Amino acid sequence: MPQSDLPVTPEELATLREKYRHERDRRIRPDGARQYRRAAGDFGYYAKDPYSERAERAPRQDRVDVLIIGAGFGGLLAGAFLRDAGSASIRLMDEAGDVGGTWYFNRYPGVRCDIESYLYMPLLEETGAMPSERYATGEEIRQHAVRIAKHYDLYRDTLFQTRATSLTWDEESNEWQVTTDRGDDFRARYVVTSSGTLSQPKLPGITGIETFQGHTFHTSRWDYGYTGGSPSDPLDNLADKRVAVVGTGATGLQVIPELAKSAKELIVLQRTPSTVDIRDNRPTDPEWVASLSPGWQQRRMDNFLHVLAGEPVDELLVTDGWTRTPALQRHILSGSVDDSVSEEEREVRDEFADAAAMNRIRARISEIVSDPITAEALKPWFRYMCKRPGFSDTYLQAFNRPNVTLVDTADFHGITAMTETAVVVGDDEYEVDCVIMATGFEAGVSGVISGTLPVIGRAGVPLLHAWGQGPRTLHGFYTHGFPNLFQLGAIQNANSVNFVHILQEQAQHVAAVISRAESVGALRVEPSAEAERQWIETVHATARDVSAFQAECTPGYYNAEGSQAITGFTFSPGPVVFHRMLREWRDGDMRDVLVRKEGDIRQRESSLIGAVSPLRISRRV
Ligand code: NAP
Repeated sequence: MPQSDLPVTPEELATLREKYRHERDRRIRPDGARQYRRAAGDFGYYAKDPYSERAERAPRQDRVDVLIIGAGFGGLLAGAFLRDAGSASIRLMDEAGDVGGTWYFNRYPGVRCDIESYLYMPLLEETGAMPSERYATGEEIRQHAVRIAKHYDLYRDTLFQTRATSLTWDEESNEWQVTTDRGDDFRARYVVTSSGTLSQPKLPGITGIETFQGHTFHTSRWDYGYTGGSPSDPLDNLADKRVAVVGTGATGLQVIPELAKSAKELIVLQRTPSTVDIRDNRPTDPEWVASLSPGWQQRRMDNFLHVLAGEPVDELLVTDGWTRTPALQRHILSGSVDDSVSEEEREVRDEFADAAAMNRIRARISEIVSDPITAEALKPWFRYMCKRPGFSDTYLQAFNRPNVTLVDTADFHGITAMTETAVVVGDDEYEVDCVIMATGFEAGVSGVISGTLPVIGRAGVPLLHAWGQGPRTLHGFYTHGFPNLFQLGAIQNANSVNFVHILQEQAQHVAAVISRAESVGALRVEPSAEAERQWIETVHATARDVSAFQAECTPGYYNAEGSQAITGFTFSPGPVVFHRMLREWRDGDMRDVLVRKEGDIRQRESSLIGAVSPLRISRRV
């Protein structure tokens, strides 16, 4: 099996570029991102929660100190740090029936994290937990979310199966009035939103999808009643079923090997192949666990983040597919770049490295998949970060089974139609009993941004009005005119693939600000318009233009389905610099938060300067 990258010559690179363009062009659709439908809006049954019965309850008309919207890891971490800081009155709210966020909903067979669980599962030392495997199952991760909620006593005042329908700032009382779809109408002094970046399931707008008479569901709402089995047991009821699965993204990679084991016949409907690199999962080594000293998890998380952000480390603590490709990740994610060479030289060097890595990944497919035509169809022809990289040691092998058929839909821009009994691709009809949609999620759509959660700030101004020309925040968290509102997520801050680590830093920050505001008797917390303007300028000034890279990419949610190039709207110096800046600011008087990039990028850390008092903490009396 090829373990090393396979370098290319300049001539081969030129040919490869042409091949990538050809493969991109045959997938571009004129309707771009409009090809999808929202599962909840168009087909309620695709979005229905199969894991919890709806529980009736009386509406709340009370008051809490902190409302946290979203009980995934972001919300749980905010709750945990607020508890540590002494907050007694915390209410977690979620549309799901329990905590866990994405891990509550995604219970499909084969679901696991794709970042080492020792880094991905937060608060391991604090809660006395240790994952059983390097890449833990979704159920183990979900149970860990439950463990965190119990450990920090966050179940005390939860509102599950509840969606916030409005947030309105009350200038008299300096608190938020909150309404929900369960008739609640209560007050919260602070509101923290953490509603995930990929939480709303989406469906392809396939002609005739509503006429299909067989069974169908989305992977994030798995119907074990139909398939039998469980996330860890065979799907017995599929033994006599012809099953089609749509989608070969990160979810497809995990679920297809499990379906292949259980279904009588499995048809994999692929439009774009994913990269499938080595996974190398294994049980947690007890000797390694015994060797760990206190603080090990934070050190490991920091080390991983430093490596991926291109910051120097003394030692590489994690060796995996992610730490192998930091420079390639820089084409999408923020972090430090090698500025000892010009941008042009760097780009040439990266493109050669990219081609060598992708050649290795393509060669691995030929090594594993016996049928050469199937192997060829499974090869990804795009640059490494055009799509979220995938890892599996069982996915490619599944195509060697006699009951598995790969159908390439690329020439037809995906599935052509569905009938009462079949999936249609071009002129071919595939009769199936069940169609499983592994078709992903709307990217970056929180209720605040989609408008399903209207937020009305000071002087009755709607947040979406204030954000008419794009999001306006200080550090990504708070917005002028919308006091005591803190948004966790991926807007106007720094990002990395271990998103839970990013959320942990954000949650720590928000908890510290709320705690300080309370300790000084603040009336409200709100950035000044000037600070907000300067932060947006800083983000724009540091933003790396990724449009040229994105334009060459095959369509996907990273480039809005190829219909428009998404330009970076993150703090490009990266998460290590961003987190250090936040910590320094927290250690100070919470006044000096201005970051300005000056001069040589190598100087950037020393050029963090405080110039105004952007975060206004007004005294109560
Ligand atoms: P996704 O990456 O968006 O993949 C959706 C798949 O559906 C793609 O293969 C897409 O093809 C296909 N598709 C959409 N419309 C189609 C049509 N009309 N006909 C045929 N195929 C169609 O979604 P996902 O796999 O659920 O992953 C989403 C994100 O969730 C990941 O990027 C990752 O961040 C996260 N995730 C993580 C893990 C983990 O291991 N921790 C696991 C699962 C998900 P195209 O590529 O051609 O559009």
